[in-house]
Amino acid sequence: MTTSVTSSKSIYHFVMQRTGDGIMVCSSAGIVTYVNPAAAAMLSLRSQQIIGKHAGSTLRAFPAVLKLLNNSGELSRDVRLPFQRLATGTASTLNNGDRVLILHDITEQRDIETRRITLSKTLAHDLRNPISGIRGFVDLVERFGELNADQKRFLERAQQSTDKVQQMLRQLVDLAWIEAGMSLQRESVRLNEIINDELQSLRPLAKMRSLHFVTSIQTPLPVIMGDSERLAQVVHNLLTNAINYSSPDRTIAVHAWGDDYDVFCSVADQGFGIATHEQQLIWDRMYRSSDERVRGVSGGGLGLTIARTIVERHGGSIWLTSRMDEGSTFTFHLPAISDH
Ligand code: ADP
Repeated sequence: MTTSVTSSKSIYHFVMQRTGDGIMVCSSAGIVTYVNPAAAAMLSLRSQQIIGKHAGSTLRAFPAVLKLLNNSGELSRDVRLPFQRLATGTASTLNNGDRVLILHDITEQRDIETRRITLSKTLAHDLRNPISGIRGFVDLVERFGELNADQKRFLERAQQSTDKVQQMLRQLVDLAWIEAGMSLQRESVRLNEIINDELQSLRPLAKMRSLHFVTSIQTPLPVIMGDSERLAQVVHNLLTNAINYSSPDRTIAVHAWGDDYDVFCSVADQGFGIATHEQQLIWDRMYRSSDERVRGVSGGGLGLTIARTIVERHGGSIWLTSRMDEGSTFTFHLPAISDH
């Protein structure tokens, strides 16, 4: 018994001393009672300068830390550290009234994320004009004299390729826009109207591929607050995928239902299916399945990333079930405006 208490005490001490996360404890009277080396280093202070002192006086330079220590309940916020570093601070109150704060340095993560977003934004914007120019000139060639069969074929290839790049750029701009945290519209939306509009606009494409839509859509669905254009994009991306990754003469089933709390929408196809090991990966930007049948369809691998970002920005979630060669079902849920 004694051994286990001793060893758990030393483990506790070892972890607190060696962890890269900063840990600080403050009494209910506002006195700092413990600071581990990582926390002292993050705040550029020596532990002797803080321990036993009132947090309000020694940590004046860190208003976010003071807010975390002074409030009650579990709380998280960004904490600016010296030398332009950034941490996420999470604080909670212990049973004895002490307040414990954990600081997790996220400077590198934040830098990489900012650089990635800036890069995709720059790429998307800087490439858009030249590509539109190329597409314009390619279209003009035909108007200036007869072309032989080979020239026509090459021209068609050039048109298809520029269309594909333009489509990818549009998606990249969208993604950069959403990831940059730009605000979404917040209006009352009935998802059944959006779904019906998208079904209507994609019916010709489905027909061309000999695919049939069957629908069961609760009308009206409970109201949700959101951005109707962006939500239409979610439905559009799921429907086009179901069309693109199905063989002819199959059915695509679209269901939508809801209650006082949630609205659900699912798109089920009888298409190629997605291998189990790829079911997590397909949500990543630009990931496309290695399945030969998928590679035969042009795409940029951004549709699902965009769909998931939009759904999550609305406070919802999206998931899939799929079996190889049997089909896939993508379902998303959004919080409804509840009267309860
Ligand atoms: P894209 O369709 O442009 O490749 P997405 O992000 O929409 O990009 O999809 C990523 C990948 O997920 C697709 O390339 C495909 O491998 C897989 N996928 C998406 N939807 C389906 C589906 N309904 N059936 C089979 N595979 C799918």
